[in-house]
Amino acid sequence: MWNSIREIQDPAQNVSKFVFTKDTAVAEAVLYRYPDYATRTVICCSTMSGCPMGCRFCGAGDFFARSLSAEEIVAQVEHCIAETGVAPAEMKRLQIMFMSMGEPLLNLAGLIPAIERLYAMYPSAALLISTSAPDIGKAFADVVDISVRVPTVGLQFSVHESTDEARDKLIPFQRKLGLWDIALRGAEWAQATGRRPFFNYCAHDENSADIDAERLAKLFHPTVWNATVSVVCERSEGLPATNEHQRRLATGFGDKLLGLGFDVRVFDPAGQDTIGGGCGQLWFVQEWANQNPDQARRSIGFGRPEVHAPVATAHA
Ligand code: SF4
Repeated sequence: MWNSIREIQDPAQNVSKFVFTKDTAVAEAVLYRYPDYATRTVICCSTMSGCPMGCRFCGAGDFFARSLSAEEIVAQVEHCIAETGVAPAEMKRLQIMFMSMGEPLLNLAGLIPAIERLYAMYPSAALLISTSAPDIGKAFADVVDISVRVPTVGLQFSVHESTDEARDKLIPFQRKLGLWDIALRGAEWAQATGRRPFFNYCAHDENSADIDAERLAKLFHPTVWNATVSVVCERSEGLPATNEHQRRLATGFGDKLLGLGFDVRVFDPAGQDTIGGGCGQLWFVQEWANQNPDQARRSIGFGRPEVHAPVATAHA
């Protein structure tokens, strides 16, 4: 399925990264244990090689090679699970997240059969679709349909800003839902599935005031939505990935949302400084893209100002 699989470990932080390559594509998957695989295993896998969304904090934001097939997606998960040495049925919690690289809603031809297979293989695993909300055809109706058919599917929207203007700068892909439409689609999904969607927000210096939290609470009702606040990571290798300032921003903004009635989790991924384990870092993918310019075509993000930590943010 893949020609080569490279592992980069950070045993101290309980995280490993796997870089899958072949002539026409690269993918990354990250495997976390909390504190051991039997208690809780989390796998973030890729749905595309590169990404057309162009997010300015993301290591895949400058290029797109191609969508991955269902087999290529499932193979990343199978490899990670084999590496744990624990039988999936013996894991108390197994979470598989489609959020490493690629926009899942732009690759439903790969994602939906991958979800069906993963559900058949690991029936108790949580399967989380994390989307930046492209507005393409009937993609959202298809997501609702698979989420009704597969009761372990969860849905998270990468919101990241409290106004559409700021979000347009961060995510240059044009055909995407505005914040109000995201709020409506999430409520629709909640009604169809009986489950709560998440919105994901990366707190930075310019989007973490009380007014930002209040705007979000007006859009995303706390009785419908849960909140994830992510710590921003630096996409360039060699720069410090995160610092205490970013962590304080994330926890401080999380507290504001808690005060407005949200159920909040703060996401501070392990391995950011050592193996590029955080949101959007994708160091090895960037290296592959530079070495394979014939496969990695420039995306809409190429050449636009990047967002760097600690001043600003990060899909997760
Ligand atoms: S953050 Fe996610 S949606 Fe945005 S460019 Fe990166 S992989 Fe694509």
